Amino acid sequence: MGKLVCVICGMEINDKNYNFNKEAFISSNSKEDIRYCPFCGAPEQYLQIDGKEFDYDKSKLDDNALKIVDHAVKLEIFNGDFYKKASTIAKDEKVKKIFEALSRIEYMHARIHKKIGGFKEDPVLRDMDYSKYDSDDILLEMACKREKHAVEYYEKYSKEIEDKTIVEVFAALSGVEEEHIELTGKGEKV
Ligand SMILES: [Zn+2]
Repeated sequence: MGKLVCVICGMEINDKNYNFNKEAFISSNSKEDIRYCPFCGAPEQYLQIDGKEFDYDKSKLDDNALKIVDHAVKLEIFNGDFYKKASTIAKDEKVKKIFEALSRIEYMHARIHKKIGGFKEDPVLRDMDYSKYDSDDILLEMACKREKHAVEYYEKYSKEIEDKTIVEVFAALSGVEEEHIELTGKGEKV
């Protein structure tokens, strides 16, 4: 059998990594049934046997599209940084694990946008202090807000982008963030 590849992030999914970041997903992958990419969260229709990552070509993008993608890099890194810090502040072990996994996934989204826009450098963002969020409930609430903002961003700005591939990537990643809203929005059940 050929290799299972996520065409959005380009990662190969195999027996060893199918369960990576499982804390960030509501229903988990099993060896026999891989439903999403463990690295970027893209759903099953983007996982293809011997698939090839989308051919991201920044030369096809106009200035406005590049600006939108550049901002998407920043948004995802901002959220990745938040989750990384939140995972150290959170008290509950399970919540910590969820934040760690979410952090890795948001950084992967940033990496995808960097490839789309052909950006080489990571943007330098202001160092944020989240220590005032001193309970797991508040952290989850802040997380949920960020995820909602991300979904709004993708929905709003995909309308301004003409490149079909980018529109598809935005839709896929927006769907991933929607699951994160659900995941972080049920704080009391965690
Ligand atoms: Zn992926």
